[in-house]
Amino acid sequence: MAQYQEAAIVLKSRPYREADSLLTIFGQTHGKTGAIAKGARKPKSKLQAGLYPLSYTMLQLYQGRSSLATVVGAELVQGFGKMRNDLDALSWGMFLADVVDALWSDRDASFQTFQWLVVGLDALNQGRSPATVGMTVAWRCLELAGYSPGWDVCALCEQPTEQQGPVGLLLDQGQALCSNCHLGHETFKISLGSLKTWRQWMQLDPSRIGAVEAHGRVYRELFEVLSRYVEAQIGRRPRSLEFLESLAALPDRE
Ligand SMILES: [Zn+2]
Repeated sequence: MAQYQEAAIVLKSRPYREADSLLTIFGQTHGKTGAIAKGARKPKSKLQAGLYPLSYTMLQLYQGRSSLATVVGAELVQGFGKMRNDLDALSWGMFLADVVDALWSDRDASFQTFQWLVVGLDALNQGRSPATVGMTVAWRCLELAGYSPGWDVCALCEQPTEQQGPVGLLLDQGQALCSNCHLGHETFKISLGSLKTWRQWMQLDPSRIGAVEAHGRVYRELFEVLSRYVEAQIGRRPRSLEFLESLAALPDRE
């Protein structure tokens, strides 16, 4: 492949050796890729500005025999500076990076996932409701990675679940049980109202992201089911999720 250009979101960055950075990026064309930026942490490095986590950046990459690509050049497209000054928005941005990092394997590409990441970070930067934006994009990314729960039809009796609430979700299997069938099964229960909001999110045009806000009980249910579902599907609790939960538990929330 040698040298190529890639529009990418920086998902993660960590220090490596004396002055290098090890990055996980999600690129428009090549998807999730590990990359090394040599000397990026030197004070005068030209790479540095384009490599902060959650930056949208145009990268020049070199792919040799190593599994890691080498960053040859980086030009910031959008740094989402306002998002970084808002603790809620930044926390949701970090959660989205965690979710995409966990769901996709190296060199797995998804142009739509890249687009949703950009749309989500941009909406967080514009000050749209962070929780609504974050949850919507997280669910859309889960769907694109093939992890969307089958909420429409009961896994046992095969009847539509929308007639009577609450609907039970089997967190590990991602399958729904209707209100008649979930007795005796360990499920997460969700009301029809929350499910309606979730369905609206899943059909929302990216330009309208954040327009269908969740409040009160719907917000709490949708946040809890997302957090428990993500944990069940990826097999661990991302640290960003724990942080979001501690933010949500502050007394003046909602
Ligand atoms: Zn049923």
